[in-house]
Amino acid sequence: STYRASREGCRPIRVSFEFFPPKTEEMERTLWSSIERLAPLHPSFVSVTYGAGGSTRERTHNTVARMVRETNLKPAAHLTCVNATRDEVDEVVRSYWDVGVRHIVALRGDPAEGVGSAYAPHPGGYRQTCDLVAGIKRIGDFQVSVSAYPEKHPEAASLDADIDALKAKVDAGADRAITQFFFENDVYLRYVDRVRARGIDIPIVPGILPVQNFKQAANFARRTGASVPEWLAHRFEGLDDDVDTRRLIAGAVAAEQVLDLVDRGIHDFHFYSMNRADLVYAICHLLGLRAERPAAAERAAA
Ligand code: FAD
Repeated sequence: STYRASREGCRPIRVSFEFFPPKTEEMERTLWSSIERLAPLHPSFVSVTYGAGGSTRERTHNTVARMVRETNLKPAAHLTCVNATRDEVDEVVRSYWDVGVRHIVALRGDPAEGVGSAYAPHPGGYRQTCDLVAGIKRIGDFQVSVSAYPEKHPEAASLDADIDALKAKVDAGADRAITQFFFENDVYLRYVDRVRARGIDIPIVPGILPVQNFKQAANFARRTGASVPEWLAHRFEGLDDDVDTRRLIAGAVAAEQVLDLVDRGIHDFHFYSMNRADLVYAICHLLGLRAERPAAAERAAA
């Protein structure tokens, strides 16, 4: 296959994983066992989201700080402009710097009332994401990632207006964009062409959502403006009560998507892990990544 050929071309595959901060002790255990399983794959970074309306400020910070203390991972903290003054946001940024975090995923965020309600900037806050990016860069030499929307952000007037917003974030210092998830690779590749034509040259890393639960993913997609192709719905048809088959299909669908992207020259992937390791681990394995075995295990095996 051409996939094999491109692997033999030896451009390394790089991956990053996204997690959300756990709400309960049980969720915390699931998260940390997922992190332990995925860490040996040596992701370029792992990111931790910031709850809608800034609701997880403490939990995001605690999760990221624990990653710094207890792992060799390079964590990235998501941060939004919502519900906070500039001083408050700057304080969060400084507290990340102080614990050794050097990468922030800068976002506008959605209103505390949820996606769909009108967004109004906090009177004393950062108005737009590009302002937040500039603010973060003023505070410290952070790597800053931002979002990108191959199918347009629901609030943007047009795809071109959306790409203008991305350009403003790049001009403010963004180093990398991570896309909203998508299921049609052509949509992503066409978007990258348009972004390049606009003179934007930072990496536009595809955000991959392995669909664990089709109904949930379809709902999520509706709210974020990502389309759900008919063929995808068809693949999960009739499997609502069949978790095992659904998981096999989910793995196959995501594998097909990333291997096709590799064939088409893409080598960086950001996985929305939903705090679960299995599917992501399997897909990374197919991409050629192998867990580094701890030295002690190597010795025991020798
Ligand atoms: P922006 O760059 O702010 O803007 C996107 C588009 O919307 C642009 O076209 C812009 O012009 C347009 N727009 C913005 N405001 C307006 C307006 N008032 N009127 C008209 N058009 C407007 N959310 C969280 O709360 N926490 C997270 O941790 C988080 N992580 C994310 C990670 C990724 C990779 C992605 C893709 C999204 C994430 N989000 C997160 C969601 C994000 O906060 C929302 O999509 C939000 O609505 C837009 O913020 P933004 O920074 O992505 O987009």
